Amino acid sequence: MAIPRFWREIQSRYNLVGTRCGNCGTLDFPPRDVCPKCGRKSVGKMEKVPLSDSGTVVSYTTIHHAPKGFDGTKPYLLAIVELKDGARLTSQIIDCDPADIAIGMPVEATFRKLGQDGASGIIYYGYKFRPSLPATEET
Ligand SMILES: [Zn+2]
Repeated sequence: MAIPRFWREIQSRYNLVGTRCGNCGTLDFPPRDVCPKCGRKSVGKMEKVPLSDSGTVVSYTTIHHAPKGFDGTKPYLLAIVELKDGARLTSQIIDCDPADIAIGMPVEATFRKLGQDGASGIIYYGYKFRPSLPATEET
């Protein structure tokens, strides 16, 4: 399986998109039609906004029994990430040894294969997070 090489080839910076409530300013991810704080007051006022692609680990857990579709990646790390603009999301953490993850660790979004539909061959992609590299090490 040459999947890791393939992942790198299609990997790209990808802006995460969330919503900002026009009533109270709450940022949310994934995008919502109704603000969880304001409810009906926010209808029609939810604005889609690009979110920061970097943040820090707020909490994490190691998943030892991968669900269907995650074969080959177990065990894996699942973390709550707080983005620099304040939105929180749950993401798999990749390129990180379970012994090395820590609360407060800086991470950045990356675009990876999530799974594949065996019958149709359709491949699903989405965001994951990995430890941030110092800017000087990026090529
Ligand atoms: Zn609101």
